[in-house]
Amino acid sequence: MTAASVPLRTRPATSPATRALAVLLAVVLANLAVVEVLYVTAGPGKNALLSVGRFFGLHVAFIMMVQLVLVARLPWLDRRIGMDRLTAWHRWVGFSLVWTVVLHATFIVLGYARLDEESALRTFLSLAGVPASLFGICAAGLVIAVAVLSVRYARRRMQYETWHTIHIVLYAAVVLGLLHQVKEGSAFTTSAAAEAYWWGLWTLVLGALLAGRVVLPLWRNAYHRFRVAAVVPESDRVVSVYVTGRHLDRLPAHAGQFFIWRFLTRGRWWQANPYSLSAAPDGRSLRLTAKAVGSASAGLRQLPVGTRVFMEGPYGAFTSLQRTRPGTLLIAGGVGVTPIRALLEELTGSVVVLYRVHDPADAVLLGELQQLARMRGFRLHLVTGRTGTGSPPYDPFAPGTLVAAVPDIADRDVFVCGPPAMTAAVLRSLRALGVPRSQVHAERFSLAGRSPGQPGRPGQPPGQPASRSGLPRRKNVLAEPLERSPQ
Ligand SMILES: Cc1cc2nc3c(=O)[nH]c(=O)nc-3n(C[C@H](O)[C@H](O)[C@H](O)COP(=O)(O)OP(=O)(O)OC[C@H]3O[C@@H](n4cnc5c(N)ncnc54)[C@H](O)[C@@H]3O)c2cc1C
Repeated sequence: MTAASVPLRTRPATSPATRALAVLLAVVLANLAVVEVLYVTAGPGKNALLSVGRFFGLHVAFIMMVQLVLVARLPWLDRRIGMDRLTAWHRWVGFSLVWTVVLHATFIVLGYARLDEESALRTFLSLAGVPASLFGICAAGLVIAVAVLSVRYARRRMQYETWHTIHIVLYAAVVLGLLHQVKEGSAFTTSAAAEAYWWGLWTLVLGALLAGRVVLPLWRNAYHRFRVAAVVPESDRVVSVYVTGRHLDRLPAHAGQFFIWRFLTRGRWWQANPYSLSAAPDGRSLRLTAKAVGSASAGLRQLPVGTRVFMEGPYGAFTSLQRTRPGTLLIAGGVGVTPIRALLEELTGSVVVLYRVHDPADAVLLGELQQLARMRGFRLHLVTGRTGTGSPPYDPFAPGTLVAAVPDIADRDVFVCGPPAMTAAVLRSLRALGVPRSQVHAERFSLAGRSPGQPGRPGQPPGQPASRSGLPRRKNVLAEPLERSPQ
């Protein structure tokens, strides 16, 4: 791969993520204000309970729209905030959606029960007999069912594909919810302007979803026609796949980003897995480097050259766009080295790399890292060793150890990608060392409230105990600087 050098630009203290978040919040709050106005101008319901029920109903629809925007994979938002954060917010907003749905349904049933002087159960059954309410009841049922299956306990016990398929059911809930609004909505039918605003907003949201999730991926794949060019084993459990296509120089991908890759062979076309680019895009080919943790990743080794690939992306905010300082510290753990390796091709200025592995033999792409470090004058340390041994207990990412290795750490951007436990330990230490949050950028290799490889640790063979750092246990080798290049 050719190193594509991007000149260093020191950015203002506000990160792109903060600015994008501010824009997103402003748009959401401005529309929320309009929704409140719509509710107030529509006047009260037939009784207080129904008024409250309608209030929650309107907000269910609004939260649904926010939910759809968060998963629309809009390139502008994704590049700045990152899909991991957007999906994490989607998860939390999802739980607030469920509670709003429950409150809406409860108040409406109680409101009509009081109006008709009937029991809540009878009222519910008679509402279920009216198509307009039945659409709403079915939508609510689907939202609640998916929420129950999304709680961490249930999610952990499910195959990713099963969970994902169940999640797609929510689109049916959106359609049923829309039909319910068409038939029952009142707050936005008070004037032509209110109706135009409401359905205009829905059109924008659904248009964004369709564009980000369907049109853009279909167009990109038809245009670039991705194919497997080579499959190169990196170690017993790690393989690199090179993909080529037409006009790759026009693909807006950046080092540190990832794609969701679907290899169109008979046995695996239905599996789509996220992998980071393990080399900066050079306009001729793209490369992923994957560790075998399950059936899809293990099967990459057998991919025939020439296989068509359907790719969604590029996604992710783990890029040099996020830099705010001239100096950079990159911390990689295990196969988390992939986006770090790609970023190394783009970075200039003072760069230090800490590469944490179980054993030096596990350090995939190490040769490439060493070569890049030599060519560009970066400092590279391979960090091995058993966490928690010795006296005082060895902790490679303790604040003291980090600051000893990189004394000006608080003045650098820090990019971290590794197993969840390691990433958490690093983030804790960075906080303790007072590294500003805007300078800390983490990629987690997990999108949906679950870490790859759970219920074990990512990349950890079944049955192998994890150390406190989340890495498999091994004999003690203290941190060893592999290369030291002048800065
Ligand atoms: C943004 C991102 C970048 C990643 N980059 C790399 C990389 O460069 N190299 C690497 O080795 N691994 C990477 N991973 C992890 C990789 O996606 C999983 O190891 C792989 O999907 C496992 O699939 P499997 O079928 O082999 O294993 P399974 O046992 O089926 O899956 C293991 C776990 O991986 C996760 N997973 C599976 N499929 C998906 C999916 N479609 N979307 C989200 N999560 C999924 C789930 O949590 C699942 O439980 C990345 C993950 C993410 C989210």
